[in-house]
Amino acid sequence: MPRIAFYDTKKYDEEYFEKVEHPGITFKYLENKLNSDTVELARGCDGVCAFVHDVIDEETIDKLVNYDIGIVAMRCAGYNNIDLKKAKDKIKVVRVPGYSPYAVAEHAMGLLLCLNRKIHKAYFRTRDYNFSLNNLAGFDLHGRTVGVMGTGKIGRVFIDICKGFGMDVIAYDPYPIQGSNIKYVSKEELFRTSDIISLHCPLTEETKYIINEDTLAMMKDGVFIINTSRGSLIESEALYEAIKKGKVGAAGLDVYEEESEIFFEDFSNTIISDDVLKLFLSLPNVLITSHQAFLTADALINIAECTINNINAYFNGEKLENEISY
Ligand code: NAD
Repeated sequence: MPRIAFYDTKKYDEEYFEKVEHPGITFKYLENKLNSDTVELARGCDGVCAFVHDVIDEETIDKLVNYDIGIVAMRCAGYNNIDLKKAKDKIKVVRVPGYSPYAVAEHAMGLLLCLNRKIHKAYFRTRDYNFSLNNLAGFDLHGRTVGVMGTGKIGRVFIDICKGFGMDVIAYDPYPIQGSNIKYVSKEELFRTSDIISLHCPLTEETKYIINEDTLAMMKDGVFIINTSRGSLIESEALYEAIKKGKVGAAGLDVYEEESEIFFEDFSNTIISDDVLKLFLSLPNVLITSHQAFLTADALINIAECTINNINAYFNGEKLENEISY
């Protein structure tokens, strides 16, 4: 019976993986994140199940191979944290390519609505019996231009949601969908003309810091930036400076470039050492959620089902539909 070391387990992971039937597989739930130090915990297992903050570099891969582990089952879509080049021909890597684009796209719209209509401020005001409307004015989304970077599964759902709001949607993707009715523009035009920019592209060498000092300078004054993709798409310090100057009107960040040691954990009784994050959290027009865009019951079930199917396919010698390789 294959035994899978399940890294970075949270209560909801175990709850949803145990809800889905998985005869023939046992999970060894571990709180640790997978890296070259903690890989030792997988010794004696046949596979590992990993998530977004695990570090699957050459050393980790070599140790896994050394323990006769043949599969890394990512329970997420992104795979920027695996050295696929080093994994090639040594270990199989599978992922969950899409589990609920709706969950992430709806969260992106949630961040936008909350920031624009200042719902996060109103929530605290009314709890304090302060029913004043001063400084709570937003703007109509209807008729505003939203620039969508990346028209994959999530970007396309976000586009449909924005169209439902009567927004003007423009998009950039190096691989535009042929024959679609999406209005593609160049990256520069998207930066120059959008009132709101929402990032839905993967983190690659090409997209790292796609939002930086230079691209921020091109943008409209007061632009809103929403990032539910990966933190390193944005150069955080440049964004902070742009917000401070009023160039950026608001930022909704579900991801942050230095999130891996912070997000998903409770630091409410600690002083965190990340000064940039602390500065962001001090700003009234920045809304940070800790990589929770995926977190719906529907998505968690889909993630568990797809991961279990991927693992079964590997151990049954079937074709790996969701394999990723260099
Ligand atoms: P996808 O693979 O379906 O789509 C990604 C799109 O980005 C593709 O169309 C691709 O052509 C495009 N792209 C590639 N390079 C680009 C570039 N330089 N500029 C613009 N577009 C580019 O992926 P998806 O399922 O839509 O997911 C998008 C991203 O969302 C993932 O890479 C992941 O990082 C992130 N994500 C976040 C969460 C969360 O909880 N916050 C959950 C799932 C996924």
